[in-house]
Amino acid sequence: MQSNCSFSVGGSISVNCHGWQWNTGPIASTVESFTLMLANGKIVECSRNQNRHIFSAALGGYGLIGVILDVRLKVVENTELTHEQTIIDCSESEERIALLLNENIEMGFGRVAISKDQLFEKLIWNNYRSTGPATSQISDRGVKAMKRTIFRGSERSDYGKRLRWRAEAYLQPLIDNKKTVSRNHLLSESTSLYENRSAQSTDILHEYFIPLDKIEEFMSSAKKIILNSQTDLLNVTIRTVKSDQETLLSYAPDDRVAFVMLFCQPMTKTAEEEMKRTTQELINSSLALGGTYYLPYRPHATTSQFKQAYPNWQKFIQSKSDLDPTQIFQNKFYLKYLIPAEPIAQTNNKQKIPQ
Ligand SMILES: Cc1cc2nc3c(=O)[nH]c(=O)nc-3n(C[C@H](O)[C@H](O)[C@H](O)COP(=O)(O)OP(=O)(O)OC[C@H]3O[C@@H](n4cnc5c(N)ncnc54)[C@H](O)[C@@H]3O)c2cc1C
Repeated sequence: MQSNCSFSVGGSISVNCHGWQWNTGPIASTVESFTLMLANGKIVECSRNQNRHIFSAALGGYGLIGVILDVRLKVVENTELTHEQTIIDCSESEERIALLLNENIEMGFGRVAISKDQLFEKLIWNNYRSTGPATSQISDRGVKAMKRTIFRGSERSDYGKRLRWRAEAYLQPLIDNKKTVSRNHLLSESTSLYENRSAQSTDILHEYFIPLDKIEEFMSSAKKIILNSQTDLLNVTIRTVKSDQETLLSYAPDDRVAFVMLFCQPMTKTAEEEMKRTTQELINSSLALGGTYYLPYRPHATTSQFKQAYPNWQKFIQSKSDLDPTQIFQNKFYLKYLIPAEPIAQTNNKQKIPQ
């Protein structure tokens, strides 16, 4: 699942989400089977052994193939976790993450420094190791108000960004000292804790999936792009994602490191244009290094960027056209990147489509 708990199962599977679970694939890797209602109203069972082509298209298929009605997921035990935190130089991150990949870590993520003077120079790395079955419950996150104030206080403020870094790098370890938390506790944080409640601005997420041996290059290029832009970066986390070769719209065709970036943006036309330009530059930088970007967010990518990042897009359109010939299921993503100019000929898959 994602790093927050505010999402639906159908929505999570339909974007093929990923999170802090160390060195694991996206959620599709944990799906055993699901039932799907097709555009013709028929309900079909999909798994690796049954209707496999529909399984691959509907997982991470943004609701364009059918409606997922229920799903059978592999789950893991709730465990008790100890927390370790270290500060590392971004210039050593490839080597350090490569070493961590061989360790017995259950959850892990990095948080990058974002103030202008330190941007992509240092990161706080967090490891959670299991000590056995969970012994503690999901508990109240006592310092919620303080966490929110420190986080939102970093908006348009380099002082606020440095203060947050110092609080997370030096104060948090003292608060957490020797405490353990359950895995369920760690994954029970709602997005409302940090959400933007202003009518004048909104928060925008980006995600880039970069090969491990290219992340230092990506960080130095992202640093230049962001410092040369008028955008306000609020957060960057780093996670690992194992390869997903099962879904048609896979963002991790081989093992990747995910960069999750959160920006705060004024609700103006100028700011929207600036975000679009910056997003396209960041996508170019990711593509040049063999990386991809994530599809759930603002559709700022150009069509050619989308096609380069998702080379199986034609197979996806073919499945869509076989399974939903009258295009009942649509969304802005479909209308911008996938709607065919000409009707697509039906393939021989027709006999494979339950009538
Ligand atoms: C603050 C924030 C943090 C995030 N963090 C992460 C993260 O850590 N990792 C990550 O991977 N993503 C993350 N995301 C992205 C998130 O995973 C997606 O936006 C996800 O789709 C949200 O789930 P939802 O229930 O709101 O889905 P919705 O927005 O409701 O739906 C998403 C898509 O799935 C389709 N859909 C929904 N239900 C079904 C169904 N039953 N059958 C078929 N199609 C369906 C919808 O039509 C739509 O196309 C984050 C988003 C936000 C806003």
